[in-house]
Parts: sequence; C-alpha cells; structure tokens
Amino acid sequence: MIEPHTGGCRCGAVRFEATSDPTHISYCHCSDCRRATGAPVSAFVGFDVDAVLVTGSTLKSYENGPVSRRFCSVCGSPVSYFDRRIGERIYFMLGAMDAPSHYKPALHAYVREQLPFVHMPDNLPRHLKSSVERPETD
Ligand SMILES: [Zn+2]
Ligand SMILES: [Zn+2]
Repeated sequence: MIEPHTGGCRCGAVRFEATSDPTHISYCHCSDCRRATGAPVSAFVGFDVDAVLVTGSTLKSYENGPVSRRFCSVCGSPVSYFDRRIGERIYFMLGAMDAPSHYKPALHAYVREQLPFVHMPDNLPRHLKSSVERPETD
C-alpha cells in the first residue's frame, strides 16, 4: 500500500498520518457510530497507535467510558475512534483518508444493529457484534 497513509478533517485543520499499513479495515453498523457520524453505516481504518501522528489544535474529544471519539471542533468532522481496552490501535474514519478508495473494508461489524434498508451485497464476514475482542474489565 501507499505510505505514509494520510488523512484529515473537512476543513484541513486536523491532519494525521500513519507510517505503517493498516491492521484493520471494517464497516460498523452499530447505533453508537451511527449517532456519532450521522451516517447509516460507518467505516474505519485501524492502525497501530505507535505508527500514527495526529496534528491540529482544533481536535476535540468526546469521552464515553473507555471510548474516545475525536472530531474537529471547527468543521465537525469525525476523525478517529479509540478504545482504551484495545489501546494498541487507533481507528480513523475511512472517509477521512485522503485516498479512501485504497482502503477496502474486510468485514462488517455489529450487523445485528444494521438498518433494515441498508443492503451491501458483498461476501465479507459479518459479525453480529464487535469483530475485535475487548476484555471484560474496563
Ligand atoms: Zn476541520
Ligand atoms: Zn460502531
């Protein structure tokens, strides 16, 4: 794949880059992501957190338990998702990538919350809940 992997928010105030290839690319159908993005289905590109650099003073964070969703406070674009329980990885919104067509999702997560009129006829694995194990303790 191309390196570094770069992206940013709608207005350009927040930028990020990753110097290693993504470890995880997926769709998420959960209602939490739906609220956070406003879109019927979300998609994420996950990188090792050590390989990522995020810049931009307009970045704000919404904390919900172990989960932190970051967004640009100027243009409102969702930028990233981070769960402390799987703290080695940070997920960027696929749509925030500069070359989104390069990041083909490999699976669907939380299909039990998928909207009934969303049809995505691919042969990708479909997980009823999360595709990534979280430890039970926060
Ligand atoms: Zn912005
Ligand atoms: Zn989700």
